[in-house]
Amino acid sequence: MATVTLSAVGKTYAGGVDAVRDVNVDIKDGEFVVLVGPSGCGKSTLLRMVAGLETVTHGEIRIGDRVVNTLDPADRDIAMVFQNYALYPHMSVRDNMAYGLKNRRTPKDEITRRVDEAARMLELAPYLDRKPRALSGGQRQRVAMGRAIVRQPSAFLFDEPLSNLDAKLRVSMRGEIRRLQKRLGTTSLYVTHDQLEAMTLADRLIVLRDGAVEQIGAPLDVYRRP
Ligand code: ADP
Ligand code: ADP
Repeated sequence: MATVTLSAVGKTYAGGVDAVRDVNVDIKDGEFVVLVGPSGCGKSTLLRMVAGLETVTHGEIRIGDRVVNTLDPADRDIAMVFQNYALYPHMSVRDNMAYGLKNRRTPKDEITRRVDEAARMLELAPYLDRKPRALSGGQRQRVAMGRAIVRQPSAFLFDEPLSNLDAKLRVSMRGEIRRLQKRLGTTSLYVTHDQLEAMTLADRLIVLRDGAVEQIGAPLDVYRRP
């Protein structure tokens, strides 16, 4: 677990677009913060800067007590869950979940223990030997969650993880993500353009507009405003 601190963070793309402007946010240990706002407001750019997938033009990003601005994604102690799941089609569910750990030279029995535990939490135990193509959309998204969980990161970064699912599954999966996050206590930053999803999940909401923070607060405070 860790805090995530953004101080005066900004991003100007090569073409001159100011995608993110002067964002200041302190995410507390174990807090679930949701970034919401219309398409093009800078949500994905901000998340990708925290992940290390996009360079930071201004300001400072800290995870725990480390400034991570110039660290590789692999050295940031974060795990990201993507909209398109990013699973390897030729690997079993077990191997997909274990992949990041194998490259980190985690002992084999520790990998097995963590994957089995995550599979139990996510009700994936019966599917560990299947390939992703033999799973439903919801199960694939659970595998992507499992892969993030087994890393035991300081923070989870979610990039619209439920956008490819149908409406009913989105509702049940968001409840599941919330319960898992509470149980694990992992600091989380979650991007969505869905207001209801944001309201349901967030301890705190950040509404971005044109790259800047328009509102920040508890969901009811943000949406109660006239
Ligand atoms: P959101 O995730 O809220 O839809 P983005 O972070 O994707 O917003 O985009 C924010 C702004 O930055 C938009 O104006 C978008 O067109 C621009 N943008 C995003 N990626 C790039 C890029 N690689 N190069 C130039 N401009 C970009
Ligand atoms: P390394 O061997 O450097 O630890 P890996 O082979 O584990 O890297 O993973 C390749 C890249 O993908 C690394 O940058 C790693 O951090 C990243 N990666 C793998 N799984 C995830 C995930 N769930 N979330 C974020 N990044 C991930």
